[in-house]
Amino acid sequence: MNIIELINKKKNNDSFTKEEIDYIITSFLKGEIKDYQMSSLLMAICFNPLDDEEIVNLTMSYVNSGKVINLDQFKYTIDKHSTGGVGDKTSLIIGPMLAALGFCVAKFSGRGLGHTGGTVDKLEAISGFNCELNSDQFVDILKLNNMVIASQSDDLVIADKKIYALRDVTATVDSIGLIAASIMSKKIAGGSKNIILDVKYGSGAFMNTIDEAEVLAQKMVLIGKSLNRNTIALISSMEQPLGFSIGNANEVLEAVEFLKTGEGSLDLKELCYKICIEVLLLEKKCTNEKEAIDLIDDLFKNKLAYNKFIDFVNAQGGDINSVEDILSPSEIIDIFSEEEGYIEEVNAIKLANLAKNLGAGRITKEDSVDHSCGIDVYVKVGDKVNIGDLISKVYVNKKPIDDNFIKELGDSIKITSMKVEKLNVYEKIIR
Ligand code: URA
Repeated sequence: MNIIELINKKKNNDSFTKEEIDYIITSFLKGEIKDYQMSSLLMAICFNPLDDEEIVNLTMSYVNSGKVINLDQFKYTIDKHSTGGVGDKTSLIIGPMLAALGFCVAKFSGRGLGHTGGTVDKLEAISGFNCELNSDQFVDILKLNNMVIASQSDDLVIADKKIYALRDVTATVDSIGLIAASIMSKKIAGGSKNIILDVKYGSGAFMNTIDEAEVLAQKMVLIGKSLNRNTIALISSMEQPLGFSIGNANEVLEAVEFLKTGEGSLDLKELCYKICIEVLLLEKKCTNEKEAIDLIDDLFKNKLAYNKFIDFVNAQGGDINSVEDILSPSEIIDIFSEEEGYIEEVNAIKLANLAKNLGAGRITKEDSVDHSCGIDVYVKVGDKVNIGDLISKVYVNKKPIDDNFIKELGDSIKITSMKVEKLNVYEKIIR
């Protein structure tokens, strides 16, 4: 086989065999296919997308390029993945909920590059919390507590890591087949039997439209099922931030408050409930939605989800007593509404960028995250507000803010005199 012939093949929109895909991946890892040749091939794929068989074969080739976690000794293993959004702290909530419902929640997660931190950054806001686990520690903690979240280790899906780095700098990220294979390879290598995907669309998400999100979800579900994993995907909106908090420590506190009470921002509650309901139905732990809701309500009545969160934090070295104090910015600025009316827009991406500028996210991989800063926004599209209502809090720590910051924050939350429809968070499910 020869890479120039293979680039030509894709340029002419022909399909690769499994052997050809394996050849491309192994030769690239060995350095026999050069970065410039791989870049050219990736660009050809952007114009002539991979078909379903190629996507599944690429996923397996990625998986086989590294270590695979074996979770066969556990029952009801589950990995929950979100394609990422602003204020998305659902893993911190759904993890303990599912673990308290008897699932084994085994999750590798990322540090964020972009507006705010990833799940690992959020957890690291808790003093002492350790996400750097080797695969033995990962399995031991899962045994202890039926829940573990670790940062993606370097020896898993080695090919994806190397190829993603190239895609990132060659404008070849946005090919649905490449995205689906990249995400799913990490889920398959993580070893869970059940996979639930939260695929987001909207201004604050990777996929702008619901149709694009649906295509991506369908491809990922197809990969999971083809590789013998029970896989479902929810499509949910990221037209406004999820929940109230955008940052790290403030998001952890919002998650903890929800775990204690089962109450909080309604969109966050709806999405967390919906994901848990679907997982209960997927593993046939319930026969209908009503039964599932009763089981979930019970988690909060009896503090089962919160207690599971405490065990989880303790097992990974976190100081649970520090949780209430982790939000310790040097300044908190309250923002009040200057108008009366209805919320027309809460611009997720603008708010995320403002939070990033405060220090809540990274600009380069090497940057560190300031866990204490962030933004809370207490209003949702369609809410009625009066002059003087508290609509936002800004947690400022090391980087001071100026008048322009406050103006941009105001511009991110638009108010109109006309009544505005509320937005859905959950849209549909792909099975
Ligand atoms: N996230 C991933 O892990 N891979 C992609 O290709 C895109 C987003």
